Amino acid sequence: MFKVLLLSTMVFAAREHGAHLHGAGKISMAFDGKRGKIELHVPAESLYGFEHEAKSKKDRQKKEQALLKLEEKISEMIVLDPSLKCEIKKEIFEVNQQKNHAEVEAEFGVSCEAPVAGSEISFHMQKVFPRLRKVQVDVVADGVQKSLQVTNNGDSLGLK
Ligand SMILES: [Zn+2]
Repeated sequence: MFKVLLLSTMVFAAREHGAHLHGAGKISMAFDGKRGKIELHVPAESLYGFEHEAKSKKDRQKKEQALLKLEEKISEMIVLDPSLKCEIKKEIFEVNQQKNHAEVEAEFGVSCEAPVAGSEISFHMQKVFPRLRKVQVDVVADGVQKSLQVTNNGDSLGLK
């Protein structure tokens, strides 16, 4: 069930590719008890300000710094209930570079000390990346399915 869901979100993301809207991202999360996965699809422009291939030293630095920031700040952007004691770890970062657009695809693994279903998740995307104005969030936690369009810092989603 868990794997099937992740696969279907990836297929969906692939189909949507090339038609992304700057400032708009997508997050898919799936939890199976205490463990889960987060997939993030964000236009590169929203993270580091451009989408051409980073060739100059300056552009490469901008890109690297933004990706590092994403890795370091993910648990401030996606805030799980502190009592669950969750850890979010980077698994795969990819920049899908096309001719005029680039999209960052990031995957994180989540492990907690208590099941995530029944808890609340809050989002603070713009605090870290001000250009990221709108994020479509889809979450599945032990059979509970919720969606939210995040537009403000502090928007939250209850998994009940
Ligand atoms: Zn673009």
